[in-house]
Amino acid sequence: MSAQIISGKELAARIRTELAQKIKNHSSENMPVLAVVLVGDDDASKIYVRNKQKAAAEVGIGCEIMEFSASIGENALLDVIDDLNANPHINGIIVQLPLPAHINSLRVLSRINPAKDVDGFSPYNTGLLSYNHPDAFISATPKGILELLLSTGINLEGKSAVVIGRSNIVGKPVAMLLTNRNCTVTLTHSKTKDLPAIVKTADIVVAACGKARMIKAEWLKEGAVVIDVGINRIDGKLCGDVDFEAAKEKASFITPVPGGVGPMTVAMLLSNTFEAFCRQEKDPISGNKHHNCGCGHCCH
Ligand code: NAD
Repeated sequence: MSAQIISGKELAARIRTELAQKIKNHSSENMPVLAVVLVGDDDASKIYVRNKQKAAAEVGIGCEIMEFSASIGENALLDVIDDLNANPHINGIIVQLPLPAHINSLRVLSRINPAKDVDGFSPYNTGLLSYNHPDAFISATPKGILELLLSTGINLEGKSAVVIGRSNIVGKPVAMLLTNRNCTVTLTHSKTKDLPAIVKTADIVVAACGKARMIKAEWLKEGAVVIDVGINRIDGKLCGDVDFEAAKEKASFITPVPGGVGPMTVAMLLSNTFEAFCRQEKDPISGNKHHNCGCGHCCH
């Protein structure tokens, strides 16, 4: 029997509609505002940022794009982050990655006030995630993947999950999120031996290796739930990391590419921004102070 297709496009549209309603009903003089820091001329990054801005406007979130030349120095960029941290009108801050090679991304991400770190990439928020702490801002793609899994109605507890890819922005946080949901997680990567045999044990497969159609139907356990994070192109056509056409005959649920994880990422970023706005309204100080990182620049 063919798998049920999990439509991220439909789920994300529902989440954005509900969010727009919540923002409309929220009695406040202010609107949530997201600042996007964009460094350099990468065309893909520019498209992603414009998409975020358009989606933000549709739900009633302001989006300020701050563009800088690729030659900006690291200290100047840190000053930009400090200014955004101190600006009470900015509720969320994201830095579009990748940054140019001369800039230490970890230093920049670490500088964002955790209360405004709506991408959840700072070590502080990834730390909170590892503690399964409710205050963690969970990065948008992993959070979207969890929502897609929850939308199937399957009980995650005790399920065997195999995550393929261990990046800081997808694989590792997904592994942590699923562990927090009581899955038994195996995190695999490019040095993993006999990946097909490991995938065969999985009730849930999250493919995030960035290799076009690498995960074959024969690797899957009958009835596995498959979330395909990959964005690849073959002959100009978008495809995922899973051999979708064959895999959908073996899986019970599967996400398509495009229309699966991708649309969820933006929806989750917007929902994190509204969450940051609400938290800062309750506790304005949290939005205007930095964590005690001890760097001597941002802790006043
Ligand atoms: P990455 O390149 O940072 O990491 C890839 C990971 O896959 C690495 O950990 C590597 O060890 C592993 N890997 C590579 N080859 C492998 C192999 N043969 N077997 C097992 N593991 C292997 O990539 P990323 O940033 O995590 O992104 C992964 C994919 O997801 C990419 O295609 C990317 O475009 C896509 N992506 C999609 C979204 C979205 O919103 N839909 C968001 C982020 C990333």
